[in-house]
Amino acid sequence: MMAEMRLHFLGATRTVTGSQYLLETDRARVLIDCGMFQGSPNDVIRNRIPFAYTPGEVDAVLLTHAHLDHCGLIPHLSASGFSKPIYATKGTVDLTRLVLLDSAKLQEEFSQSHQRFAKKNPDRAAVEDEETMAELAAATKEDPAAATRNAPPAAITALREPLYTVDQTNTALGLFRGIDYGAEVQIAPGITATYLDAGHILGSAIIRVRVMERDQERVIVFSGDIGRPGSPIIRDPTPVTAADWLLIESTYGGKTHEPQEEAIRLLGEAVKLTGDAKGVLLVPSFAIGRTQEIVYELNRLLSAGTIPHLPLYLDSPMAGKASDVYRAHLEYFDDAARALIASSDSIIDYPDAIVTNSAKESLAIEQAARPFMVLASNGMITGGRIVQHVKSLVGDPGMTLLFVGYQGEGTLGAHLQQGAKQVRIDGQDLEVHCQVRSISGFSAHSDEPELLAWLGNFTKKPRTTFIVHGDPAAQAAFEPKVKALGFATAVPAWRETVELA
Ligand SMILES: [Zn+2]
Repeated sequence: MMAEMRLHFLGATRTVTGSQYLLETDRARVLIDCGMFQGSPNDVIRNRIPFAYTPGEVDAVLLTHAHLDHCGLIPHLSASGFSKPIYATKGTVDLTRLVLLDSAKLQEEFSQSHQRFAKKNPDRAAVEDEETMAELAAATKEDPAAATRNAPPAAITALREPLYTVDQTNTALGLFRGIDYGAEVQIAPGITATYLDAGHILGSAIIRVRVMERDQERVIVFSGDIGRPGSPIIRDPTPVTAADWLLIESTYGGKTHEPQEEAIRLLGEAVKLTGDAKGVLLVPSFAIGRTQEIVYELNRLLSAGTIPHLPLYLDSPMAGKASDVYRAHLEYFDDAARALIASSDSIIDYPDAIVTNSAKESLAIEQAARPFMVLASNGMITGGRIVQHVKSLVGDPGMTLLFVGYQGEGTLGAHLQQGAKQVRIDGQDLEVHCQVRSISGFSAHSDEPELLAWLGNFTKKPRTTFIVHGDPAAQAAFEPKVKALGFATAVPAWRETVELA
């Protein structure tokens, strides 16, 4: 008889953010990812809902990669009583430090400005709090009991407090343990984990969890975010051939990316047009992964004489630091990138790129002589320095807003990408007159054919393949194709628990 084992789906279910899964055996509790919900208010408010378990009773956290939607609640978890090891590859440990400290700083800043506002405008603040509570009610509508199962609604973190502070984040960072790809590590009684390269961003991993109970062995594979084969700089996703249960991401279910060469051609075209029109090219881009990739491609296009040398502003202090982490982990690079390093030591650098550190420098960019290019985070325009640039330039026909990544449902980025004629930013209604272009081929995620090809490596099919980390339309498109390959599938709901037996 196999002992009982349960998997709780606590995030990235029928949405693309908030990744969090709790694996529970008779002897141990292990959390896989502890990500922040991002995107629409309905999503974001879920960060304030108490954890579905007692953090102090968790034996370990396994982190797939450094993106905020996978690691963003770790300091909150640690501040709520978790004090055991957090395992991640060494590259992920270094990147996560940047991501979490930046997130904590934003939390503190947001909380301070929110509290100042509430002091000056108590009535409006009360209305906003009411709206937030309504969002909370909407967020928990699908299963209100589940949301508050382990804590009364009164325990919901005070809305104006930071979710966590820089100090709390530093404490959480002390729990990290850097491990190598391919090494099987004992992480809790009866449970080991092996990290395999997911080819998504530097250090990203597919995690293979092995559970040994009463002489029986069970394998659960968590895909994390699966990268695109052939992406520059990092290696391709590792094929996996066997599992008893599998969780697979589905961000791009139903979608096929354009080929990498077409993406590079479109990027070059946008730069040339901006140069000819003496305009501004504004690229929303996540600081980690995408920014390094775009800079790498711009540098190659420039070296090949394909594009003019326009000034490039890297308006993200974190992007610069993330590039330093990339440079410190050449062991994770693919063969092509290593070959390039042999001939040039600056493959993720653009000549004379201007890195803006302060918010003041960021605001001054718009006064620069045109043409110029700006890469700013974040990639879905839900926060970060990109928001201010979009706000000032969205009505300017001389600006091209170039999307190079996924735009989550309900985000400002998605509205603009879908051709909105008017947008609301910081309470202001603005008309859209800029050019809007999109390139899908730079994705850090496999598209549907690539996901299906990765699934095709399985010679021992999982008993159930759980489709996670996708918006509902993507999952609806993807599931029948996974079934057609002979996999038994399920699309878990938020806070659903499944017995693995
Ligand atoms: Zn990711």
